[in-house]
Parts: sequence; structure tokens; C-alpha cells
Amino acid sequence: MSSAPHWIEPHPHGIFVRPANAWIDASRPVSRALITHGHADHARGGHDAVWATPETLAIINLRYGRYPGEKAVDYGTTLDLNGVKVSFHPAGHVLGSAQIRMEYQGETVVVTGDFKRRPDPSCAPFELVPCDIFITEATFGLPVFRHPPTSEEIGKLLAMREAHPDGCVLVGAYALGKAQRVITELRALGYDDPIYLHGALEKMCALYADHGVAMGPLLPVAGADKADLRGTIVLAPPSALADRWSRRLPDPVTSMASGWMRVRARAQQRGVELPLIISDHADWDELTTTIREVAPKQVWVTHGREDALLRWCELHQIKARALAMIGREDEDEG
Ligand SMILES: [Zn+2]
Ligand SMILES: [Zn+2]
Repeated sequence: MSSAPHWIEPHPHGIFVRPANAWIDASRPVSRALITHGHADHARGGHDAVWATPETLAIINLRYGRYPGEKAVDYGTTLDLNGVKVSFHPAGHVLGSAQIRMEYQGETVVVTGDFKRRPDPSCAPFELVPCDIFITEATFGLPVFRHPPTSEEIGKLLAMREAHPDGCVLVGAYALGKAQRVITELRALGYDDPIYLHGALEKMCALYADHGVAMGPLLPVAGADKADLRGTIVLAPPSALADRWSRRLPDPVTSMASGWMRVRARAQQRGVELPLIISDHADWDELTTTIREVAPKQVWVTHGREDALLRWCELHQIKARALAMIGREDEDEG
């Protein structure tokens, strides 16, 4: 790699696009932020101008309020920012999630943000965007991480509910993305009973529904009788699993939906009886397949378990480097 500074400058707190004077997923307030998606390790309040997809803008407005300058950028629209051509492309991670493509002086760079390849009925599918430099996450960048088929995991949830008609199944699911994924995956398998929600999930589920994601009947746990909740599926943020809150539920079987449920110790730590390996991040095979298909000259890894992926790139004659960006991982997000 040449020693002259590149027009894309990775910093621990974000990726600076110098000619555009803009930051991607800055973790501190900046004058112009391009935001891949609404998770707190990528988006925050306090920026002056913000560029994001309309769905991400709606999500961050819900979480952080309005920004002084907001620009909604539709998928596939190319804009010019001081000579840098910028466009957003679906990342398949959560509603509105985008890879950011930039082209400057004949070189193309794609920043994935978080992404996954497998189908998700709650958001637009990942789009393959060829580039010279592919800047990717590697949350599950170890060969041990191979997510099972989602329908298998949802099948386990449905079977547990069947087996406990007098109790309920309480599923811990991250409020942005995972909760809506679990709901829509259940609907895709034909489950059309009401699904009960912890109060902390209601607004984001309503936002998804407002953006045309078919959620089916959703009811608040607040106000429901214990008897109403027998034989149901209840969703709550992971933090509520061990909380006093769950005492209002009839004999709950504790479950959690996360890629981290592959790690038995993590499930045990949380007292999870029914771990569901459902992830919104690419697993090892998705990461390596994607790099093969994108066929970049260089791979830069923003965060995650990068060592094995760097080695894999080396073996496949692709230059690779770790950026070691800080605070990019939320324990519950997986
Ligand atoms: Zn994310
Ligand atoms: Zn993330």
C-alpha cells in the first residue's frame, strides 16, 4: 500500500472521505455524516448534516430526533459531493440499511456497514456492488460461525410454542431489526396469531409497518391478562429477559434470537433455554463468498474477528488490512 494518504481515511471513530469532507458512520458529532443504517454503533445524534436512505432517516429521527440538515437518498441514486460520486445500495441488514458506494478519480470504494446475504422478509436484499476497495464488517469472521437456515430456527420456536400451550415463549430480540425479522419470518412460515410485544419494541415495529413491511397482528403485553398470554409468542428486548417485567408472563420459556447463540456460553450466561441462531450479519461463508463475488483489489475490515478473514484474503491474493474501528459492536445486536 502506498504511503501517500488515501482519499478515504479510516479513523477509530469513523471513515473520513476527505474530498467530500464527509464522515461515514461517525461515532462523534461531525458536520456531514453519511449513515449506513440506524444501529447505535453506526448512527448517533448531534451531527449537522446527515445523508441516509429515507427508511434510515425515519429510524434515526425516531431514536435521536431531527438533525439541522437532512438529505434522504434513495437506493441507486447517484449524487455528487465535491467531485465524489456517492450512491446507497441495499445491505440486507435491517430496514433502510445501505452499503455506500463512492467513486473518485477512477477508483471505486464500497463501505458495507453491517450486511448479510440470506433473505430477510423485513428489508431489501443485499446488492452486489463491484469495487476496487471493499470496506467490510467481520462480526462473524471465523470459520466456526456458519448460521443455520433461518426456517429451521423459526421451526424450533413454533415447536416450543406448540409444546407449551399453558405457558408462552419469550423471545429476546434486538429492538431494531431482529424483532421485526423474527416477526416476519414467523409470518412467512404461516404463523398468523397475534404476537405480543414488550413496550420497548412497539414504536420500531410500527415504523416498519408504516414502511410497508407486513407484520400481521401485534398486541402490547401491557394490558393483556396472564390468561391471554397462554400459548403465545412474546417478544422483548434482550435486557428484559431476566427483568422483573417477565413475571407478568405465564410460565415463560426463555429464548433469544442472535448469531451469538451459536456460542453456548453466551446462551447459558443469559439463562436462555431456547437459543435461536438468527443473525443479521454475514457468517463466514457469506463474508468469503461476497469478497469473491465483489472481487476487489483490496479489503479493509472495519470491525469484528478480522484475523481469519485477513489470512483468507492473503491466501486468495487480495490485499487486506484491519481498521480496528472502536465501539462497532453491540453485544445484543448480532
Ligand atoms: Zn447493525
Ligand atoms: Zn454494527
